[in-house]
Amino acid sequence: MRILQVASEAFGLVKTGGLADVTAGLSSALVETGHDVRLVLPAYRGCLEAAKATPRFELGSFGDSGPVRVCEGRLPGTDVVTWLVDAPLRFDRPGGPYLDVDGHDYADNPQRFGLLGRVAALLAMGGALAGWRPDVVHAHDWQAALSLAHLAWWGAPRPKTVFTIHNLHFQGRYAPGDVQDLGLPAVAFATEGLELYGTVSFIKAGLQYADRITTVSPSYAREICEPTGGEGLDGLLRHRGDALRGILNGIDRDVWNPRTDRAIEATFGPSEWSARAKNKHALQAAVGLQTDVDTPLFGAVSRLAWQKGIDLLLAAAPSVIERGGQIVVVGSGDPHLEAQLSDAAARWPGRFAFFCGYDEPLSHRVFAGSDMIAVPSRFEPCGLTQLYALRYGALPIVRATGGLRDTVLDASHPDGVGFVFEGLEPASATDAMLRGLSTYADRGKWRQMQLRAMARDHGWPQVAGAYAQLYDE
Ligand code: ADP
Repeated sequence: MRILQVASEAFGLVKTGGLADVTAGLSSALVETGHDVRLVLPAYRGCLEAAKATPRFELGSFGDSGPVRVCEGRLPGTDVVTWLVDAPLRFDRPGGPYLDVDGHDYADNPQRFGLLGRVAALLAMGGALAGWRPDVVHAHDWQAALSLAHLAWWGAPRPKTVFTIHNLHFQGRYAPGDVQDLGLPAVAFATEGLELYGTVSFIKAGLQYADRITTVSPSYAREICEPTGGEGLDGLLRHRGDALRGILNGIDRDVWNPRTDRAIEATFGPSEWSARAKNKHALQAAVGLQTDVDTPLFGAVSRLAWQKGIDLLLAAAPSVIERGGQIVVVGSGDPHLEAQLSDAAARWPGRFAFFCGYDEPLSHRVFAGSDMIAVPSRFEPCGLTQLYALRYGALPIVRATGGLRDTVLDASHPDGVGFVFEGLEPASATDAMLRGLSTYADRGKWRQMQLRAMARDHGWPQVAGAYAQLYDE
C-alpha cells in the first residue's frame, strides 16, 4: 500500500517529544513490512543536509511564503523516503520547529504549518506533480491537519485519510485575522469547517475531515470524548465516535535496547543485575548523587509542563528522601518548575539531582540506572518514558491516565510491573513512590517485577500491523 505520512517532527531529523519517535518508528516499521511510504516534513534548518536531500519538485511561489520546492532524501538511519518542504522564508531559521531562540512561538506558525498542509495535499493528489499517488494520507497532530482539509475541499477523488491525535491539548488555534492569507475557502471559517468558538482550529480539520481518527491509547480515546479530557472538542469527538480508535504507540527496540545501547555505562539483559548496577553507579556519579548502588533511585525524563505533574513529584520528594531514596530529574520547560527543581537540588545535595536541558544520551543513562521512573502526568495520551523504563528494568510509577493506565499494571496484581496511583493530589503520588520504596526492599519480588517488565514487547512491528489493518479498512 502507498502511504503518505505528514508530520512536523521525525526522530533523526527533528524532535521535541514523543511525536517524533512515533512518526519515525511507524514509518520505518511500515517500510520494513513492504509498504511504500513517503514522509512529508518541513525542511527546518539543517534537515536537507541530514537527510541528504536533493531537489525533486519545484512548486513555484506561494505568496508571502516565497519559493517552495520539495527535496527528497532519507530519514537518517532508515529507508524511509522523506520529502522535505523547502520554503526557506518559513523554515530555514535558527531556533526550534515551533519556537524561536528566545522560546517564543513564531508569529507565522499558522502560515508555516498551513503551508505544510497545503504542500502535502498537493503531493497527495499525485498525478503529474509527484508521479506517485498514495492510497492513504496519514496526518499527525494539528501541524499536519490542514492537509486533510485541503483534500476534502478539493472534492476530486482523493486518497483515504487518517488523522492521529498525539496530544489534544495542542490545537493550533488562531484568530481569523491571523489566517487570512492561507488560501482557505469560506467554509474554513464556518462551524462545519475549522471554526471553534470564534477561532480557527487547525486540529479540528483533522477531526472533521479524516476518514478515520486515531489516538495513541485506548484509554485516551475514551478520555477525550468526555468534557474533562476533551479540551473543548469532546462533542465533535463523540460525534465522530465510530471513526475513532486508540492504538498504543510502540518504541524503537534498536534505539532502546539495553543489550546494545552505546549511551550507557554497561550493556545488560534480563538477570544481568550486576551490569545494571554499574549503570546506576555511573549515573549517580555523573549527576552528583551519593554513589551507593543499594540506595533506591527514582528517575524522571520529561518536558517540564503542567501536564507532566512534576509538581506532584516535587511534593513527594521530602518523604522519599527522608526514607532514604534519591531522585534525578532530566528535563526543561516551564521556568517556574526549573527553578523549583534547582532549589530541590540545592536543598538536598547528593540526594536530589536536576539536569536542566534536553539530553538524549543522558536520558538513556537515566532509564538504565534508575530503579524507578516517575511519570505522574495529569493526562498522558500514551507516554513513551514508561515504555523505555520497562525495557530497561526500571519500574514505572505512573498516574492512572491515558496510555499510562493501559501499559503499567500495579504491583498489587500478580503480573504487576510498576506502581499506579489514581488521585491528583500530592498524597497519592507520594503513596505510590513510598510503595515503590518498600517493594524495593523485597529483592525477590523486585527482581520478578523487573523480569516481567523487561519481557514486555512494545515494539513497532505489531503496532504498524494495527495501523496497516486500519489503512486496509
Ligand atoms: P511528550 O511527547 O508529551 O513530551 P512522551 O513520553 O510521549 O511525552 O515523549 C517524550 C519523549 O521525549 C521521550 O522520548 C523522552 O525520553 C524524551 N524527552 C523528554 N524530555 C527529555 C530531555 N530533557 N532529554 C532527553 N529526552 C527527553
